[in-house]
Amino acid sequence: MALSKSLEELCQKAIKLGAAEAKIIKANDIVVRDWVRLKCQYGCSEYGKRLTCPPYSPTPEQMRKILSGYSSAILLRFEPTWKNVHRVVAELERGLLSGYYSAFGLASGPCPFCKKCNLRNCIHPELARPSMEAYGIDVYATARGAGFTIEVVRTRKEKPKYFGLLLAI
Ligand code: SF4
Repeated sequence: MALSKSLEELCQKAIKLGAAEAKIIKANDIVVRDWVRLKCQYGCSEYGKRLTCPPYSPTPEQMRKILSGYSSAILLRFEPTWKNVHRVVAELERGLLSGYYSAFGLASGPCPFCKKCNLRNCIHPELARPSMEAYGIDVYATARGAGFTIEVVRTRKEKPKYFGLLLAI
């Protein structure tokens, strides 16, 4: 099946699985910045507590190299009430794997599957996916570049929109 048709179908599947919006984007349009991990290190109570998070996740420098091996991706937006972006991107990844084995999903926030991560061997490798920000992706710039509306959240009372990403091929 042609890639564009597969990706269009996956966008529809993403909506069925709970995404509010799904858009096909170029991998070139994914913005990676070195400062993003500062926000994990000095803004997130889960820093260093999940295998999917820094300092265990690849650095922004490694992510730039990883992205150079991709041309297409799907960016997903979820409403603030949505709880499990990880499960959706893992399922979409599986949906693309048979035709495009380079498929890889990235989620939002710390991995939610264990109360306490063992920080050695992941016990749910089929579901655990890193967040976009853990890899140094500037989610705001990437989402705005793709035409999504996203405002900066400044307090814990404000509700963020969540984003996920499926790297396709
Ligand atoms: S599934 Fe469990 S072991 Fe694997 S990264 Fe997530 S929290 Fe850690």
